[in-house]
Amino acid sequence: MNLTAYRDDAEEFVSSLDREYYRHFAGLQDEFDIETIYERHAELFSRDSVQRLREEGTTQLVEFAVHGFIGRATKEESAELARREAALEIELEGEQLPFRQSAVIQANERDPERRAAIETARLDAAERELDPLLREALERSHALAKELGWPSMRAMCEELSGIDLGALESQTSAFLDSTESTYEEIVSGPLETELGYGFDRFQRADMAYFFRAPSLDGVYPDARLLESLEQTLSGLHLDPPGVILDVDQRPKKTPRAFCAPVRVPDEVYLVIARRGGRDDYETLFHEAGHAQHFAHMPGSLPMEYRYLGDNSITESFAFLFQHLTADPAWLRTRLDIQEPAAIERQFRAVKLVFLRRYAAKLAYELELQAAPAALDPLREVYARRLSDALHIEWPSASWLSDVDPFFYAAAYIRAWALETHVRRLLHERFGELWFEEPEAGEFLIDLWRQGQSMRGDELLRELTGAELDFGALLDDLKLVA
Ligand SMILES: [Zn+2]
Repeated sequence: MNLTAYRDDAEEFVSSLDREYYRHFAGLQDEFDIETIYERHAELFSRDSVQRLREEGTTQLVEFAVHGFIGRATKEESAELARREAALEIELEGEQLPFRQSAVIQANERDPERRAAIETARLDAAERELDPLLREALERSHALAKELGWPSMRAMCEELSGIDLGALESQTSAFLDSTESTYEEIVSGPLETELGYGFDRFQRADMAYFFRAPSLDGVYPDARLLESLEQTLSGLHLDPPGVILDVDQRPKKTPRAFCAPVRVPDEVYLVIARRGGRDDYETLFHEAGHAQHFAHMPGSLPMEYRYLGDNSITESFAFLFQHLTADPAWLRTRLDIQEPAAIERQFRAVKLVFLRRYAAKLAYELELQAAPAALDPLREVYARRLSDALHIEWPSASWLSDVDPFFYAAAYIRAWALETHVRRLLHERFGELWFEEPEAGEFLIDLWRQGQSMRGDELLRELTGAELDFGALLDDLKLVA
């Protein structure tokens, strides 16, 4: 097999897909024509290519080909999902709201009843319009994993990624156990502050409003958002020419911030839809971490190390930058905050909610993707696992939409753990003001230069000799006595 030609074609494909993704989700075009892109590069994902790569390709390329094989077989559903979602409107007290905007409106809504009404309307619309497609795509992907010779989607993902998802789940379920008794205590105070009530009334519809933390709006002024990022990057001497910032408001822009590495390292979009306040800082810095990571990879690296591989690496750098926005030294230096205690409390509470949510999600997805005899019973498994982890009545309606393809949730989970180590190293070597040290920037650039040639656990072993373990979060968040 001609691997050079395969890589060139693969890069062209990934790049076209990311460009289409960027243009659609940034609200620049309604079309989301991924079918044409898949057909133009159909050879990449033929059975023959998959087979030959399994014999002589790198692990990242094999994973790419298999994911592409499944992606191609479900491309109609994916494209139709994006189109429907973009056009979908929900009805609220006789008023029509764009589906994608409704999440932002909900995150900013002060009235808990109205938040709940928006959420119910959105879940209903999604269940009616999107779930049939999600279900079709899920069932087809399960069938294809078997056709390719794996007993299940789970087994396929474990083998291709080299990540033992069962072992990871033991770590996250141990984390759930260890934090079970302190969870409400840590989250209650910040809940009261933001919502005016605690776990007695807290529900999922309040989540985004709670994360957004309106009480901290004064701390995170809109006017200093971009400036604080620019100052942080210039403190680290990070100024790669490839990063393109897209902060414009457009009606059809997705409310989820994202980074689109269309050409690595030369054309990397950082897209954000503003909601205001803390959320904007967190998401902008998170996506900026991705953008810096991609824009510092040498163009000479094989494409699979620039675009593919273990995403717990890119996510860890995204979390590293995101974390700055609640770091006392950063708050003092960049936003003139002298009393960060309330911010730290809020950050810790939100992070604990996220970690427990992802722990529950991983356990659920492992069951869902382990070739269950029937899908329907999983709906209740989903609601129960999330409800138990978060101590609220979690609606079951999102059991199909709240699933990340190919266990992307595991990348987040591993990245949270990896980030604690990278952050500690930066502190040890460059002090608490590491974000003002050009040498810290150089240290990061050195890591970024390798792209994703290693898995996150391999990178950590090389850096410090430590094993990647989710238990690291217990220490990091001071969750153990
Ligand atoms: Zn990310």
